[in-house]
Amino acid sequence: MSLSVELAVRERLLATAHAMSAAGLNTGTAGNVSVRIDGGMLITPSGMPPVACTPEDMVIVTADGSASGRVAPSSEWRFHHDLYTRRPEVGAILHAHAPFATSLACQRIEIPPFHYMIARFGGNTVRCARYATFGTQALSDNILAAMDGRSACLMANHGMLVSGRDLDNALDLAIEFETLCEQYWRTRQIGEPVLLSDAEMAEVVERFRWYGKPRAG
Ligand SMILES: [Zn+2]
Repeated sequence: MSLSVELAVRERLLATAHAMSAAGLNTGTAGNVSVRIDGGMLITPSGMPPVACTPEDMVIVTADGSASGRVAPSSEWRFHHDLYTRRPEVGAILHAHAPFATSLACQRIEIPPFHYMIARFGGNTVRCARYATFGTQALSDNILAAMDGRSACLMANHGMLVSGRDLDNALDLAIEFETLCEQYWRTRQIGEPVLLSDAEMAEVVERFRWYGKPRAG
């Protein structure tokens, strides 16, 4: 990667971190975002709010898990790293302590098919990863299990995680996911929602496979 290309990716990553704050997904130093690059990933630093960062503060973590940069990578770099290794189609990962998603995650709720948009994340439900201490391999393992076949999960007593093909896609999905969490939270205030059936959800999952793509034939 040339230096000018690398700087552009650093700027894009920091801009996404700012956009997460602006969208209300994160406040202060909570949350982090990364993007796949040749030979590894670029991730936001540990303990620095986006407003205090420059593009040079974004940290490269190589495929073997070693970091190079003037500051340390996010303490939660491990699950980003493991997800890129496991899922070759993932180009960007966004982790947030967004208010509604986190409220549901503290209840350790698996979000059921209360709305067809759940299928946007790959299946009939959005799972909640089992609890483990932040920054640990155990948490990463739990997240990988919850993300199997999916592009979003809750993280018990912690927050949420979304993967996308690139930074813009991951940000869009994260905002959609937090909106869904709010809708689920609100509908639960007035009772138990009517859930969509497996057949109804299978049809939506199939449609999303083609969503936004030119259809052959
Ligand atoms: Zn976190």
